Amino acid sequence: MRTVTVLGSTGSIGCATLDLLGRAPGAFAVEALTGAGNVALLAEQAVAHRARLAVTARPDLYAELRERLAGTGIEAAAGPEAVAEAAARPADWTMGAIVGAAGLVPSLEVVRRGGTLALANKETLVAAGRLVMAEARRHGAAILPVDSEHSGLFQALRGERAEEVERLILTASGGAFRDWPLERLVHATVEEASTHPNWAMGQRITVDSASMFNKALEVIEAHELFGLPPDRIEVLIHPESLVHALVGFRDGGLIAHLGAPDMRHAIGFALYHPAREALPVERLDLAQVGRLTFREPDAARYPALGLARAAMEAGGLMGAAFNAAKEAALDAFLARTIRFTDMARVVEEALDRLSGAGALPSLCRSGDIPRLEDVLEADRLARETARELVAAMGEDA
Ligand code: NAD
Ligand code: MG
Repeated sequence: MRTVTVLGSTGSIGCATLDLLGRAPGAFAVEALTGAGNVALLAEQAVAHRARLAVTARPDLYAELRERLAGTGIEAAAGPEAVAEAAARPADWTMGAIVGAAGLVPSLEVVRRGGTLALANKETLVAAGRLVMAEARRHGAAILPVDSEHSGLFQALRGERAEEVERLILTASGGAFRDWPLERLVHATVEEASTHPNWAMGQRITVDSASMFNKALEVIEAHELFGLPPDRIEVLIHPESLVHALVGFRDGGLIAHLGAPDMRHAIGFALYHPAREALPVERLDLAQVGRLTFREPDAARYPALGLARAAMEAGGLMGAAFNAAKEAALDAFLARTIRFTDMARVVEEALDRLSGAGALPSLCRSGDIPRLEDVLEADRLARETARELVAAMGEDA
């Protein structure tokens, strides 16, 4: 029996992971499940999957979690440190499905114990890719990408030689507003941005898909995971979301990964890797689909892509700052403090300030492997700067 831990079990990816575990009775023993606000669901999952430990990131919800687990023999804990400790406990396979930079420290714990980390939390790699990949090599940890595009790339790269790879192509649906007239974007509401044309996901990544910040994070994620320079990682708008990614080789051949938009494919691939097991995902009927379309992303519609490229070129701690500024801008949009199109303005301005003032370069030079403390400091500075910019925008309005 393999032991598994699911970090972020109450979210969209976490629930899909538990769905797969539930379909293989007797194959897995759940060590720990972690969540945050939804302790009712967390407790229910812990009981249903006979977890040994359930942790909420929220200390204020500890009493409620303990009460819900009373008499079950399941251990309860709370707080970010307890989440990190859950990640550090031995388990054969760990899903990293926390949303946001809060996933970084738990991811590092898994990597530092030499574990197998199925990584959905792309923010881990965006904020600290160099550090996490270096630690993974040092401790013999395996990182299996779960983001659908990166799982697709990983699959297309199996058995291929790194030096023969010319380029990586990530597809993007184009999000909720791909066909909106540009002038209308400024009026986009939270509700409109929270509906994805093809995928059912958590609200934050859905809004990030509409703004293309999700793809921006994914370009950085691909750069960190596969080591290709930014100019050899491309983005292609593909409204059908059936081709997830393509690898281009130096002989001109392209290998594409296709599948129905169901995250259980990528999660299941990581769960059973290196084997392939039967998974409960829809089989594509390409004759029924009929046609697949592609187009170039429009820079005016999607400024996030250019910002991500600038952050990658700058290197050092700019990825951590990029992600944190984006999270703060997204918080402000979700709170209806700034407009949809202001998110990219906040991120751009925050990064300008931080690189201009030399605040980030003084923490870590561009080619160095950053220390965790410096990554966390860059995150804090960028969040603070973005929040100041948001506040100033509010005063102007
Ligand atoms: P979600 O919002 O549905 O779930 C997030 C999970 O993280 C929940 O369990 C929540 O309790 C937990 N959490 C939230 N804040 C936390 C904190 N401060 N500390 C600890 N735990 C916290 O998110 P999701 O859509 O499942 O996405 C999870 C991750 O996977 C994200 O990084 C996302 O970008 C990535 N991802 C998601 C999808 C998808 O289809 N949903 C696809 C690709 C990648
Ligand atoms: Mg993705």
